Amino acid sequence: PAFRASRDVISTRKEESPVHGLSEMIVGVLGGGQLGRMLCQAASQMAIKVAILDPLENCPASALSYDHMVGSFDDSATVEEFVKRCGVLTFEIEHVDVATVEKLEQQGVDCQPKAFTIRIIQDKYLQKVHFSRNEIPLPEFMQINDIEGAKRAGELFGYPLMIKSRRLAYDGRGNAVAKSEEELYSAVDALGGFDRGLYVEKWAPFVKELAVIVARGRDNSILCYPVVETIHRDNICHIVKAPANVKWKIRERATEIAYKAVRSLEGAGVFAVELFLTRDEQILLNEVAPRPHNSGHHTIEACYTSQFEQHLRAVVGLPLGDPSMKTPAAIMYNILGEDEGEHGFRLAHQLIGRALTIPGATVHWYDKPDMRKQRKMGHITIVGPSLQNIERYLSRMLEEGSLDHK
Ligand code: ATP
Ligand code: MG
Ligand code: MG
Repeated sequence: PAFRASRDVISTRKEESPVHGLSEMIVGVLGGGQLGRMLCQAASQMAIKVAILDPLENCPASALSYDHMVGSFDDSATVEEFVKRCGVLTFEIEHVDVATVEKLEQQGVDCQPKAFTIRIIQDKYLQKVHFSRNEIPLPEFMQINDIEGAKRAGELFGYPLMIKSRRLAYDGRGNAVAKSEEELYSAVDALGGFDRGLYVEKWAPFVKELAVIVARGRDNSILCYPVVETIHRDNICHIVKAPANVKWKIRERATEIAYKAVRSLEGAGVFAVELFLTRDEQILLNEVAPRPHNSGHHTIEACYTSQFEQHLRAVVGLPLGDPSMKTPAAIMYNILGEDEGEHGFRLAHQLIGRALTIPGATVHWYDKPDMRKQRKMGHITIVGPSLQNIERYLSRMLEEGSLDHK
C-alpha cells in the first residue's frame, strides 16, 4: 500500500513525538468517505492529525487528511500496516475486518470504540441479541435459515415483514419487505438468498423516527445530544429536524434508551442510536452506529460541539464538549444523487445555488468523484429561530424554479 508521496513521513514524525495540536496522537480512521472528511475538518481546527485508510485515491477525506493510505480497510495486512502509523485507531464505517481489529487490540493497539463493539454492531442480528439481553426495547426479531423459517416468522410476526441482511447493510440496501407469504421468495432473492445471512424483524408501525447521538469519553463519561427526528426517503436518511418536535416525555425516554444502549457497548467515541416512535408512544431501538452519523450532521452548525469534534475529543481522551444546541432549531437536508453523471451534477448545483441565497443555510459538498442516483453527495443545514421558520426556507429551497428535488 502506497502513502501519498508528499507526506511519506508520518512514522518518523511519530518518533520525534512533537505536540502538534490538542493531542499528539495521530488519529487513524478506517474509511475516508464524507464522515472521514468531516472528521478531518474538525481535526484541522484543533491541529489534530487524522490519517485515513481508504481504497479510493480520490475519496472525500483524502484531500483534507494528514495522510491517506490507499488500501482496503477490510484487508488484514493493510490494516496492520496502517495502525503502525497511528496513535489511536477509530472508524467511520463498521464494515471492517473485525478479526484483525481484535488481534491488534490484543497486541496493545488502542482502538476506540473497542473491537467488541464493532463486532456486535457490524452484524445486525448479533446487535439485536445484544440489545435485547441488555433490556433495550426492540421490534421482535428472529434468525431465518430457509424459506420454512421465513414462513414461520411470517405466521408469528404477521405482514408486512421486514427481512434484513445481517451484514454490510447501509442506506436500506440489505432490507426487503414482504407484504405477504408469497412475497417472501422475491424478498429473500432480492437480498441475495439465505447464504448471505438473513434475519427478520416484526414491522414497527412507527409514526416518527428519532435519533440520538451519544458521546462517550475514555473515562466512560456519557453525554447525549438533543433528540432529532429523521425522515427517510426510500430507506435513505433524507431530512433531519432538530430538536425533534415531540413531547418532552418522549424526548426523555428516547434519551434514556440511547444512553442505556451506548452504556452496554465498550470504548470511546460518538455513537448514533436510531429509534422508532410508535403510535402508542413506545420507543423501540432500530440500530446503533459506532461512529459519527448522518443524523448528527446538523451539530456542525447547530451545537456547541459538533459530533465530529466530539468524536475526536473522545478517542484521543480530551474532555467532552457541550452537546447542547446553540441555535433554537436546525434542519439538515441530504443532497442525494437525482441522476447519474453530468445531469445529476447539474441538478445538485441548481439546488446548491438556491441554498446559497437562504439565510442560515450552510452547504456541504463531499466532492465524491462520481455522481450516482441515491448517493449522498452533500448536505445543507439551515439554522434559525424555530422549526416552523426554517421549514419555510426549506420548501422555498426545494420548490423555487425546479420540481426536480421534491
Ligand atoms: P442506515 O443507512 O441507517 O445504516 P440500514 O441499511 O442499516 O440504514 P435500517 O436502519 O435497518 O437500514 O433500516 C432503514 C429504514 O427502514 C429505517 O430507517 C426505517 O425507516 C425502515 N425500517 C427498518 N426496520 C424496520 C422495521 N422493523 N419496521 C418498519 N420499518 C423499518
Ligand atoms: Mg445501518
Ligand atoms: Mg439505519
